[in-house]
This record gives sequence, C-alpha cells and structure tokens, in this order.
Amino acid sequence: MKRRDFMKKAGAGSLLAGSMVAASAIAGTGQKHKWKMVTTWPKNFPGLGTGANNLAKLITEMSGGRIKVKVYGAKELVPAFEVFDAVSRGTAEMGHGAAYYWKGKSEAAQFFAAVPYGLTAQEMNGWLYHGGGMALWMKIYDRFNLVPAAAGNTGVQMGGWFNKEINSLQDLKGLKMRIPGLGGEVLKRAGGTPVNLPGSELYTSLQSGAIDATEWVGPYNDLAFGLYKAAKYYYYPGWHEPGSTLEAMINKDAFSKLPKDLQSIVMNACKVVNQDMLAEYTARNNAALHTLVNKHKVDLRPFPDDVLAKLRQLSDEVVAEVAAKNKLTKEVYESFRTFRDQVMEWHKVSEQSYMRAREL
Ligand code: CA
Repeated sequence: MKRRDFMKKAGAGSLLAGSMVAASAIAGTGQKHKWKMVTTWPKNFPGLGTGANNLAKLITEMSGGRIKVKVYGAKELVPAFEVFDAVSRGTAEMGHGAAYYWKGKSEAAQFFAAVPYGLTAQEMNGWLYHGGGMALWMKIYDRFNLVPAAAGNTGVQMGGWFNKEINSLQDLKGLKMRIPGLGGEVLKRAGGTPVNLPGSELYTSLQSGAIDATEWVGPYNDLAFGLYKAAKYYYYPGWHEPGSTLEAMINKDAFSKLPKDLQSIVMNACKVVNQDMLAEYTARNNAALHTLVNKHKVDLRPFPDDVLAKLRQLSDEVVAEVAAKNKLTKEVYESFRTFRDQVMEWHKVSEQSYMRAREL
C-alpha cells in the first residue's frame, strides 16, 4: 500500500510538474504581438502584393491571433525602396520585397533574388533550403538586424517590353531600361543604361519616354500594369530573372522576442507562401499571355539565340566581377556557382530531358 501511495504521489507530482512546464510555456507565449509589414509592392498587387497579404493572414491564423500582421503597400508607411531600412531599424517588424533592391546595402544580397543565367525557382529552393543558401542569407542580413526568409517566387520572368526590335546586342546600346539587380549590370556592360524603379512607376515612365524599355515580371503581372499600352514588343525569356525569389525580412529584435512556437509559425508561413506564389504564377501566366497576344495584339518575340548567348557571356563576366568585390559576396557566389553546376548536371537528365521528350 505504501509503495502504491508513493507511486501515486510521484505520478501526481510528475503530472503536476508536467502541467506546470506546459503552463509556463504558454504563459511565456500568452503575449500578443501587433506587427506591421511594409512592402515594396503596390497594395493588393496581383501575386506580389496579394502574396504579402496571404503571408500576413497565414501568420495571424496559424498563431491563433497571437501575432496580428497588418500589411502596408508601398508609400503607405514608407516608400518601396525604404522597406529594408524601415524593418532594420524597427519602424515595421516585417517587410516583403526582393533582395536585389538592396544591392546598395550589400552586393551579396542580389544572389538571393535573381542571378542572370542562374537558378530556376525549383533550383533556388534547393540551394536555399538544402544547399547552404539560407545560412549565407542569414549571415548577410544579420549585420542589418534582419532575419530573411524566402517568401514567394515568380518562376522564369519575361525579357521585357520594348518599342524596337532586338535583333543584335547592338540594339541594346544606348537603351534606357528599367531592369534591377545583376541583370541591370549586364545591360550596362552591353552599352545600355539600367534604371531601378518601383513597379508603380513603370507604366508612366515608359509612356512618357523617361525610359525606353522595361521588364517587370511575367504576363500575369505585366497585364495588370497595362504595360502593353506603352510598348509594342514583348520579348522572352527573362534571361536576367530565371526564378526570382521574393523575400520576407523580419526585424531581429522583434523575432527574438517571440517564443519558439511563434518563430516556427512565422518561418513556416513564409515557406508556404514561397511555394504558393510560384503555384499561382504557374497557373495564371498562360491565360494572361493569351489575353496579351490575342486581345491586345502584343507582338511576342523570342530574343535571337546569338543575343542570348552573348548576354550569357557578359553575365558570367559581370557576376564574377561583382563577386570579387568583397569576401562575403565571393563566399555567396562560390556556393551559388557550385550548386548551379551540380544541379545543371542533374536537370540535364531530369527536367530538361523530360521537357524535350514532351515536345517530340
Ligand atoms: Ca523583374
């Protein structure tokens, strides 16, 4: 009897201890967090802006309202290109944008959005999640008091909108084109003038002649901005953006204040949106392309092969030169390039050969 009593007490005690641990864990997590998310996109813009909305909604829902995220479009709280600084200093707890907008902060950041002739969406996710990419991205953003996460992907983009034919590299000379990141550097090497403008300014800039050409994303997004009304030719493929990763950035202090379960919710909500946005683009681009070509009579053209080959040569040069600028960028470049070489071998026998077989 004595022994049984003892066992009972011990059992009750450990149960109590267990529930106390659980209670204290919950007590630590009982706090509500009101977060602001600033974005580089016009509010509710299809795909990009709605992806940011979706991320905010998911975090709020998955946390049972313990984190409430309110989304601000570009210019609502801060202009598009001040998102990085705003989240870094804590004006907002979170941001949504694309890492190549911050090359003035860190050259290495560009590798986490898009590299000309770099990785596709599927390959980017492979590098980030299982090829060492995320650790490097975190290392770079850590210096700015930020925690990064992949939070969307557009897939292969379009080459852009032009008002003249592009038959040779010569046709890019003197061209003033909105094209961000490393792609812009390549255009510069080809004799053009790259301009970095937020999406909301593209249509008016093209219409007024402030720029000669622009790229944006792909048919679904380009149709939404009405770019077909300001340019005649729509070129493909987007050699400069083969699978652009969109990003979420989180203020490190705000992130550190969260209990582990909420941190996991925030990071995993980003992962969900990263996949879901790609699925949305994949599903909607073709219908939009159909509308552009058949309804709006857009002249859809492939870049000539020799133009693409020359741009690839220039891209290799430019990207290697940017990488040589500092130690950290070089480290990122080497990780990226090694992964690209390896995944290209695999995709030659998998994706690429299947795509070819499907056309036979
Ligand atoms: Ca783009």
